[in-house]
Amino acid sequence: MNHYPHLLAPLDLGHIVLPNRVLMGSMHTGLEETGDWGRVAAFYAARAAGGVGLIVTGGMAPNREGGVFPGAAGLFSDADIANHRGVTDAVHGAGGRIAMQILHAGRYAYGKDCVAPSALKSPISPFVPRELDEDGIEKQISDMVIAAQRAQAAGYDGVEVMGSEGYFLNQFLVRHTNRRTDRWGGSYDNRMRLPVDVVRRVRAAVGPDFIVIYRISLIDLIPDGSSWDEVVTLARAVQAAGASLLNTGIGWHEARVPTIATSVPRAAFTWLTARLRPHVSIPVITSNRINTPEVGEAVLAAGQADMVSMARPFLADADFVAKAAAGRAADIAPCIACNQACLDHTFSGKLTSCLVNPRACHETELVYAPTDAPKRVAVVGAGAGGMMAALVAAGRGHAVTLFEKAPEVGGQLNLARQVPGKEEFHGLVAWFAHGLAQAGVDMRLSTAPEVEDLRGYDEVIVATGVLPRDPGIAGQERALGYAQVLRGAPVGKRVAIVGAGGIGFDVAEFLVQSGASPTLDFDLWRQEWGVGDPDQTAGGLAEPQPHAPARQVWLLQRKAEKPGRRLGKTTGWIHRAALAAKGVTMLGGVGYDALVDQGLCITRDGQPEVLPVDTVVLCAGQVPDRSLVDALTAAGVAHHVIGGADVAAELDAKRAIDQGARLAAAL
Ligand code: NAP
Ligand code: SF4
Repeated sequence: MNHYPHLLAPLDLGHIVLPNRVLMGSMHTGLEETGDWGRVAAFYAARAAGGVGLIVTGGMAPNREGGVFPGAAGLFSDADIANHRGVTDAVHGAGGRIAMQILHAGRYAYGKDCVAPSALKSPISPFVPRELDEDGIEKQISDMVIAAQRAQAAGYDGVEVMGSEGYFLNQFLVRHTNRRTDRWGGSYDNRMRLPVDVVRRVRAAVGPDFIVIYRISLIDLIPDGSSWDEVVTLARAVQAAGASLLNTGIGWHEARVPTIATSVPRAAFTWLTARLRPHVSIPVITSNRINTPEVGEAVLAAGQADMVSMARPFLADADFVAKAAAGRAADIAPCIACNQACLDHTFSGKLTSCLVNPRACHETELVYAPTDAPKRVAVVGAGAGGMMAALVAAGRGHAVTLFEKAPEVGGQLNLARQVPGKEEFHGLVAWFAHGLAQAGVDMRLSTAPEVEDLRGYDEVIVATGVLPRDPGIAGQERALGYAQVLRGAPVGKRVAIVGAGGIGFDVAEFLVQSGASPTLDFDLWRQEWGVGDPDQTAGGLAEPQPHAPARQVWLLQRKAEKPGRRLGKTTGWIHRAALAAKGVTMLGGVGYDALVDQGLCITRDGQPEVLPVDTVVLCAGQVPDRSLVDALTAAGVAHHVIGGADVAAELDAKRAIDQGARLAAAL
C-alpha cells in the first residue's frame, strides 16, 4: 500500500518525467574540493539508487570571482567536464537524475576579488565587493550561461540557477544591496533584469529539453528585502524566461532569524510556497525543515507545493525515498537538523558528513560489509555511541547483546530531548530503538554487567558514557545536577547555572521556557523571532515579541570569553540570541566562592558579589565513566572503549556515533 500517494506521484516536465515529488536540495559537501571525483560520484549515486526524484548538486561557481571561497569547485573550463561526467554517469547508472546548481556568491564570496551590484560589504564577510560595470555584468551573465552549457555537455539533466539566500542574483533584486542608478538598479524592472536575463539566456543556450530550476527567495528576512508583489513579479518573469521549476529559498545568510536549525518548526515556510503557487503555471518546490515522508506528504496533499525539497535528510539516509515507498518509514534515519556534522563542518572547512549517518560523504571508505565470521559482541551502554555500534555490528551479521543500566535506551539523548527546540531527538531515539529491534539485538535493559558477565564474548565494547564533573564549590551539596533538572526536579524562580557549555545553554533554555515549546507552535515561534509577512513589510521582518521568561537566569563560566563562543558554528548565535531575548544574564570571568543561604557567592573582576538565586544548577562538564573499563583491564578482559567513556572532553553524540560505527564496521 502506498502511504504517500502525493509524495510518490510522478511529475511530468514535458521532456522528462520525474518518478516522484522529492528533490534532494543543494548542499555543499566539500567532496569536490578533495579532487577525488570518485567520492563525489559515489555520494550522489547512493542517493540516486535510494530513489530520490531529482538531485541538485552543491553550488558550482561559474567563475573564480563568484566562488563561495577561494578554490571552490566550479565548471571553469572544458577540462572540468570530465570530472562532472563521472558524476552524471554514476547517477544515471543508478537510475537517477541530477541537475547542477550554478552558484555565484557575489558579495558573499570569501575573497578580495568578489563582485556585486554595489560596493557594500556584507555583515558576514570581511571583503568589500567591487561594483560591477556594464562589461563586468555581461561577463557574469555569460559565465553563468557557459557553465550551464558545460553542465549540459557533462551529462546533467538540468541546472538550478541559484537566485536566493542573498547570493549574487538576490543582491541585484533588493535595494538593501543594489544602489545602482543605471539599467540594473532603481525600479524593480531594472533590479530583476539580471536574474531574468540569466534564465532567458541559459534557456536559449541549452534548448528546450533541459531542466532549468530557478531558486527564488520568498522571504528575505533582511531589512529592505523583496516585497511579496516583487516576488510574484519575478516568479512570473522567470517563468516567461524559460524556467521549468521554481524552487524556494528562505532567508539570506546574513538574516538573524533561524531558518533551518532544529528549533525551527517543521515545514515552517511552506505557507509562502502555497501563496506563490497560484501565480505561476510551472511546478513550485517547497523547502526548509521537511524531514519525514509524513510531513512531505501532508504539504503536497494540502496543495502547498508540487514538490518538496529536502537536503540534509539525504545525508542522514540515502534511501529515504526507497524506504518510504516500501512502507518502511520507521527505518529512515532522521535528520535532526542539528547542523553538527554538515553545515558546521562546511563552515569550518571540513568535509561534510552527518551526525546520524557517519557514512555520508565517506561512502567509499566506511563500508558496513556483511561479515563472513560472525562473532558474539557485547556492547555496554545504550547511549548514542553504544546504540550505533550495536546497530552496525548486528547489521553486519554479528550476534550482539546490548546492556543498559537504565530501563530505556538513549542515554544522554534522553536528556537532550527534554529541551525545548530539541524535540527532533525523540525521533532519533525512536529510530535507534526500532533499528535495534529490527536487527535482532539482544537487549538487556536495567542491567549493568559485571566483568564475569562479559567473559565469553568475542568482542566487548564499553560505551558507559560520562559522569558529571565535580566542580568542588563550597556548599555545592545544595545545588542540583543538570540531569535532575531536565528530569523535572523543582527549580526556583531565580537560578544560577554553573557552566555555559552545550548543556548549560540547554538547561537555560529549558528553565526560561514556560508553556508550549515554540518549535511545536508555529505562531509562537514566529512571534518570538519576528517573522512577519513580505506582503506587509519588504523582506518579511517583524518586531520580535518574545514571551516572558519563566525564570530569571544567570548563565556563568570561568573563562573570560563571551559565553557560547564554542557552541556550534552555525547554531551558537541562535542559542545566544534566544537566551538574550529571555533576559538571561550571561557572564564570563566568574570565580565560584560558595553556595550560601542568600544565593551564589562569586567573584568577578576581583569584586565579590552574591547572586540572589534560590537554585544553582551544575553544568560543569563531564568526566569519563571508566569504572567498567578499569575492572576489565584489571581482569585482563580485552575490550574497546568508545564515546564519553573514552574521551569526555569532546563528548558529543557526533563523535560517539562516528566512533561506534567505525569500530563496528571493523569487527
Ligand atoms: P562543556 O561544553 O565542556 O562545558 C562545560 C562547562 O563547564 C564550561 O562552560 C566550563 O567553562 C565549565 N567548567 C568546566 N570545568 C569546570 C569546573 N571545574 N568548575 C566549574 N565549571 C567548570 O560540557 P557540557 O556542557 O557538559 O557539554 C558536554 C558535551 O555535550 C559538549 O561537548 C557538547 O558538545 C555536547 N552538547 C552539545 C550541545 C549542542 O547544542 N550542540 C548541547 C548539549 C551538549 P569554564 O571552564 O570556563 O568555567
Ligand atoms: Fe541532519 Fe545533523 Fe545529519 Fe546535518 S548532521 S544532516 S543536521 S542530522
